[in-house]
Amino acid sequence: MPKVSVIAIDGPAGSGKSALGERLAKRLGYLYFDTGVVYRAVTWVALHRGVDLSDEDAVNLIAENLRIAVLRPTKDDGRQYTVMADDDDVTWQIFLPAVDANVSVVSAHPRVRRALLAQQQEIARQGQVIMVGRDIGTVVAPDADLKIYLQASDEVRAERRFVQAKSRGTETSFAQILADLRRRDKIDSEREAAPLRMADDAVLIVTDDVTVDQEVDMVKEMMRQREQ
Ligand code: C5P
Repeated sequence: MPKVSVIAIDGPAGSGKSALGERLAKRLGYLYFDTGVVYRAVTWVALHRGVDLSDEDAVNLIAENLRIAVLRPTKDDGRQYTVMADDDDVTWQIFLPAVDANVSVVSAHPRVRRALLAQQQEIARQGQVIMVGRDIGTVVAPDADLKIYLQASDEVRAERRFVQAKSRGTETSFAQILADLRRRDKIDSEREAAPLRMADDAVLIVTDDVTVDQEVDMVKEMMRQREQ
């Protein structure tokens, strides 16, 4: 097992976590695991079933019983991975604007987080993984071998999400995305349970003016130093 086996990447929405995580995983031959998808899957199923998202008991029941699986792509339609919720393929649904608008309410419920933690920790235990999220370095994998925290200005982050939304054919505006992103950051960083924050031993990378390849090089250099 390489010395730097578990890499945690945290940061707010649109800070570049998935771009960096995916490219790094490909270069290193590590597994890429985007933990946001588990919260998104629960949110989508709750919305689909018409559940009141502020009802922690009801949402928790879904989180405790839903079988969420993140698989290699099962279709050649531009997806990076396939997300299954029980027997349903929810890969595209979990990125709909309705999920963006509601996922932070769902993920703020402490029992929902607890229900979804074990699966994430099991993946971390297997090693050779890049885990991306909000609380990886602080809660999911506090012993990660390398912790990165990404940050970028609100406008740059919203622009990235806007481009992504357009490429998926989603009807939305830049202003809507910016407002939603700020609201989500506020809930994610002010919640009691596992709030978004930089771990004390994380390395900060500000991604406004840095390309993904430059970020990969920075991380590889950090890995090299830690391997010595
Ligand atoms: O990263 P992504 O935007 O897909 O995450 C969606 C939401 O899931 C976040 O806004 C946050 O509320 C929640 N989340 C979390 N902890 C994580 C990953 C995501 O609370 N580790």
